[in-house]
Amino acid sequence: MSRITECRSCGSPNLTPILDLGAQPLANALVEPDKAGQPEELFPLDVCFCGTCALVQVTETVPPEVLFGRDYPYFSSFSPALLAHSRSHALELIERRKLGPDNLVAEVASNDGYLLRNFAAAGIPVLGIDPASGPAAAARAIGIPTVEDFFNRTLGERLAAEGKAADVILAKNVLAHVDGINEFVAGFAALLKADGIAEFEFPYLRDLIEECAFDTIYHEHVFYYSLTALEPLFARHGLHLNDVVRLDIHGGSLRLTVSKNPGKSERLSALMAEERALGMHEARYYQDFARRVAGVKEALLALVDSLRGQGKRIAAYGAAAKGATLLNYAGLTAKELDFVVDRNTHKQGKLMPGAQLPIRPVEALLEERPDYLVVLAWNFADEIMEQQRAYAEAGGTFILPIPEPHLARPQAVEPGIAAA
Ligand SMILES: [Zn+2]
Repeated sequence: MSRITECRSCGSPNLTPILDLGAQPLANALVEPDKAGQPEELFPLDVCFCGTCALVQVTETVPPEVLFGRDYPYFSSFSPALLAHSRSHALELIERRKLGPDNLVAEVASNDGYLLRNFAAAGIPVLGIDPASGPAAAARAIGIPTVEDFFNRTLGERLAAEGKAADVILAKNVLAHVDGINEFVAGFAALLKADGIAEFEFPYLRDLIEECAFDTIYHEHVFYYSLTALEPLFARHGLHLNDVVRLDIHGGSLRLTVSKNPGKSERLSALMAEERALGMHEARYYQDFARRVAGVKEALLALVDSLRGQGKRIAAYGAAAKGATLLNYAGLTAKELDFVVDRNTHKQGKLMPGAQLPIRPVEALLEERPDYLVVLAWNFADEIMEQQRAYAEAGGTFILPIPEPHLARPQAVEPGIAAA
């Protein structure tokens, strides 16, 4: 645990604080039921901006073994929306890159093989890389060869020396997670064929700022990227930004294509020009973010207080990291919210870090019928509201906390008695 004094990408000491979310437990450190009520280890959660390369990053470093070790509970295959998104991306890539049995598709942070299995099913050789033992074992069980290790320059060079060269390397929601970002990016340069491509997906800083999605900030997310900040990072390792697509997933993400060959698509150049015009390379772009974040907290607490005052029962949906950030920043605990539900059976029975809400199966919603449901996983709000139609039809109302707290109901369900 240590506080940075220099930018993790360019090494500049020119860092400006932009947001302080207070001391928080690690957002994925679910609490075992027999540890309920015991103090948890807290770490400062704040974010700074590098005035030299424009990279936004958390100021505290937690060792990756602590963040992504054996008990890392996330299994990608528990999210139907993510599975559908992954499959369509795989099919599109197979077509666009004309991939076949002579190619190799590698994935960094391959989790339980949720993405690579689409390539394997099409007869394309695949290689997964993931340090989390549970998900890696699940991947191998469905026939996805998986190296159980952290990806970096050393591993990329070792795989290359073993004759593995990738036509495509995929890295979804991991570029933002790796503290040693230069060693990480160097690994891609080592494993990639001369004419190969690497595709990265990561939350887009501009969407985070514009949508006030501060709950996507937690210690695992070391970096919050703009294209402006990524260009010098990749260039340092001989990689060029070639193309970009904006995605709705995770509250607004980018899918970025890089390769060893220069050449920017028109849409990439256009998006970089927009960032320039917005001033994302300057500290003042980030100045009123902290004030807006405080506004979300105030509004959410006022809403919850008012509903509790009317005797309403409130639960939450989504025991994910972003939920922990939101609850702990707002100071919401088991005093205000009864429980949180999640489909992931690995999480059920445990408690949310910090807030210590019990995590129950989604069926608890129909058994307990809380009047209101705070959708912590608001990035999947449409899917969740559709899934929980029976809860809404029984009179339940959803609270979407971001970009500002508001009530919502699935389409075609008439407003019930519940209204605040
Ligand atoms: Zn920098």
